[in-house]
Amino acid sequence: MDIWHRITFHKLEEMEGELNNLSVKYKKVPLFGDSYLISFDIAESDPSWPLVAKFVQQKNAPNIYDTIFTKQEILEAEWVRLKPIFEQGYPQPKDTFEWRDNTFSFVCHKCGIAHGQKAPFHLRKEPKMGKNDFLSLYWAYTLFCNAKVIAVFDANQFQGYEALEALIHRTNQSSKTVKQLFVPHIAKPGLADLDKEQPETCPSCGLTKYLYHKRGYIHIQRDSLNTDVDFQLTHEWFGSGGRNAFREYLISQRVARVILEQGWRGVVLKPIELV
Ligand SMILES: [Zn+2]
Repeated sequence: MDIWHRITFHKLEEMEGELNNLSVKYKKVPLFGDSYLISFDIAESDPSWPLVAKFVQQKNAPNIYDTIFTKQEILEAEWVRLKPIFEQGYPQPKDTFEWRDNTFSFVCHKCGIAHGQKAPFHLRKEPKMGKNDFLSLYWAYTLFCNAKVIAVFDANQFQGYEALEALIHRTNQSSKTVKQLFVPHIAKPGLADLDKEQPETCPSCGLTKYLYHKRGYIHIQRDSLNTDVDFQLTHEWFGSGGRNAFREYLISQRVARVILEQGWRGVVLKPIELV
């Protein structure tokens, strides 16, 4: 496990000399005139990290971070979070936010929580998957995948998912490229108190969102999980500080093993510590 940071400094902060001394490689991102930003990725295991962290704090520099786990750490976990990372396109019709009302039976327009899917998602056009096997849409933390993934999941007799048609909005025809991997089972409340960061309770619907978990293992109570399925969603909602909301996808060790063995792309796996 390593924590990776994407750090950005402004030219005016005059950090280049310091970074050159540390042999930290960075990219220059041009701004207006002769101004620019300096951007680089660095892991906490890098010997330069303690000093870089000090600079980040001094300059109050933007710092986006996430945890990257080793294959072995993922395979040792009984349950794993699955996070879609290949996003393309918006749910349709995009302009009016109508898509949420069309797709879900419960929608809160204040906090973005929506559940009880009642209709297929509409895509603007056939997705271009490139080398990816999984897909998600902007705004909607929803999982789609190609036919190969479904076939392998079916062959392994995994439990707890349904392959739903996704419709191309203009023609109302099913996508030939992807299906939605729909997960109907929801765990009982089980997010550990230490991971309930920045709780935000919506004044309109009364539901609570937490901050997306980024650092190290997320902790979930073992007895909150359904044990007769391989796929489920967290009871808790995430996305505080933003207008969208999502439940985390949880997959069993068996599913995580297959995803790693197949080398499928478009998702990352993050092991869970059961408490
Ligand atoms: Zn709400």
